[in-house]
This record gives sequence, structure tokens and C-alpha cells, in this order.
Amino acid sequence: MTISNMWVVLEAADDGFTPTSLELLSHARTIANTVSGVTWGAGAAFAAQAGEYGATTLYTVDVPTNSLPGAAVAAAIAGATLPDLILIPTSYDGRDIAGRLSARLKRPVLTNATNLNAEGHTEHPIFGGTQLVDAHFTTSGIGIVVVRAKSFTATPSGGAPAATTALSVPDLGRRGESSITNRHVEERTGPKLEEAAVVVAGGRGIGEATGFAIVEEIASLLNGAAGASRAIVDAGWVPYSLQVGQTGKTVKPAVYIACGISGATQHMVGMKGSKTIIAINKDPDAPIFQIADLGIVGDVKTVLPALAAVLRARS
Ligand SMILES: Cc1cc2nc3c(=O)[nH]c(=O)nc-3n(C[C@H](O)[C@H](O)[C@H](O)COP(=O)(O)OP(=O)(O)OC[C@H]3O[C@@H](n4cnc5c(N)ncnc54)[C@H](O)[C@@H]3O)c2cc1C
Repeated sequence: MTISNMWVVLEAADDGFTPTSLELLSHARTIANTVSGVTWGAGAAFAAQAGEYGATTLYTVDVPTNSLPGAAVAAAIAGATLPDLILIPTSYDGRDIAGRLSARLKRPVLTNATNLNAEGHTEHPIFGGTQLVDAHFTTSGIGIVVVRAKSFTATPSGGAPAATTALSVPDLGRRGESSITNRHVEERTGPKLEEAAVVVAGGRGIGEATGFAIVEEIASLLNGAAGASRAIVDAGWVPYSLQVGQTGKTVKPAVYIACGISGATQHMVGMKGSKTIIAINKDPDAPIFQIADLGIVGDVKTVLPALAAVLRARS
């Protein structure tokens, strides 16, 4: 597959595109000659950022306020002159767009990708990240690829603002009727889990729900974010938004401190890209030690208070 013209779906956050959107845009420009973004809503105001990360054109789709974007964005893309390949972030709206686009164009989708090369081959971790699958499209037509967060690094190229062009949206009929009735923003102090330079994560080894307070305190003392294993999310000790792993968030901080986490493959797939991994576990054979740069064999009830005391004294 030759990829000379690539599009990237760009989702807007409060003050620019989401980190995953920018990661995809940065990677796209290393592969294709022409890279364009497709956005909607607040994203139309970020043409300068789209250009800065490599897009020459920013296609905008008119999505009514409080409507879900999937139906309109997929229909608008399907009606345009298609690129060779489109990259879509793994997110709720991204997956919605990908599925609808696939149905409209009768083209397959490659999901959960963590890499794409210039020949159109994609990489997909399976079995909890223990195996990598190499995939590619075997029929001609647009390639639709949904990519996981943190697969690439977002780096500005210093390009000029992208030229903005509106894509027309056909009559969506009943497909356009879904609307957003309520929004819930999880309360948080400090950096976002996916963007924090330091992540301190707690697992079942913290013993009980109240044991998470010290994990949060250490995260805060290090200007980082608190994370969790699925075991304590399922136990109801912390919200799902903190879950790291295959069915949670992918993080790549400079430092990841795993406290009382065994290191199941489904957890490790979401954090093993961290630069330095520190594990605290009372079991010297815990699998997390196999990927840890620094391992502390000890009880979190002893180690964490001692660590917190040192950090408190320092701050
Ligand atoms: C389809 C699927 C998807 C999944 N997705 C995810 C995911 O996204 N994220 C995720 O995390 N998991 C996921 N899981 C679950 C995963 O398989 C593990 O069950 C989970 O990660 C275990 O969490 P844990 O390490 O906190 O608990 P455990 O495996 O119970 O480990 C607790 C650890 O704490 C240590 N410990 C106990 N007491 C102390 C103490 N006082 N001091 C120090 N150490 C102590 C123990 O030695 C042990 O190693 C998934 C599973 C499946 C099947």
C-alpha cells in the first residue's frame, strides 16, 4: 500500500486538540506527503495547532451543539474525495466515527493499533501485550486505522496554520438524532493521568479503600497523578477513570510507582512504556519486578508512609 495522502481525525479538548490527536498527526507527517486533519465543533478554531503538527488542510464538519459527532463526521468523510488512509484516535467518539465510516464505505477497520509504517503495516498487541500482530489491508481502498493513545510522540514541526475547508454533511435522517443530555467531568486536582510525568498507582496490596489515600498523597507530593489496577476499581475502592491497563488508560510517564500491584499482563500493557518503573511489593516473585527498574520488596504499609514522610519534609 502506498500512502501519499493521509487524514487524521482530530478531537478538540479545552485549549487545543487532544494529546492522542497530536500524536497521530505527528506520526502521519513522517509517512505521507500530504496530511490533513478532520475536526468538528471547537476543533475548527485550532487550525494553527493543526498546521504546527503537520496538517496542511483542516477539514471541518458542522456538528450541532449537543449532538454526538459520529454520524455527521463519518457521513462527511465518506462523501469527500478520500485519502489513502485515515488515522483515528481510540476514544469514544473516534471508535464511533470509525465504525460508521466502515459501514458507509464497506471497508474494514484495523483497531487497537500501536504502530503504522510507510508500507501500511500496522502493529497490534494481543494477549495482554505478550504478542504483537502485524496486519495490513489486502484489498484496495481507504485504510481505516484506530490507534491507541501514547503509540507515538507528539512533536510540532513548526508548519504554518492549516487552511480550513468545510466538508458538507448529507441529510443524516434518524442517525443524526442522538443528543448529549448530560456531561460528567470527573473531579481531579493535579495533572491528568495520561499526561502526568509521575504516576503513583495502587493495587490490591494496599489492603482496603482507605489505603489509597497515601497513594494519592504521594502522587500529589510528586506533582503526579494517582492510578490504579483493575482489581481495586472492580472492588469499588477508586473510580474507573484511574484504571491503568488493557481496559483502562495507557500511560507513559517518566516515573511509574506500582504499589501492591502484582503485574498482570493486562496491567503491564498499559504502563510498561514508562521510562522508569519502581515496584513496591511484599512478594519477591511478583511479575511486576520483571519489568521494574527499581524494586522494593516490602510492605506498602511500611514503605509508603516512610516515602510520604520524606517527601513531606522536602516540600
Ligand atoms: C480482559 C481483561 C482485561 C483486564 N484489564 C485490566 C486493566 O486494564 N488493568 C488492570 O490492572 N488489570 C486488568 N485486568 C485484571 C488483571 O488480570 C489483574 O487481575 C489485576 O491487574 C490485578 O490487580 P492487582 O495487581 O492490584 O491485584 P493482585 O493480582 O491481587 O495483586 C496484589 C499484589 O499486591 C501484593 N501485596 C499484597 N499485600 C501487600 C502489602 N501489604 N505490601 C506490598 N505488596 C502487597 C501481592 O503480593 C500481589 O502481588 C484485566 C483482566 C482481564 C481478564
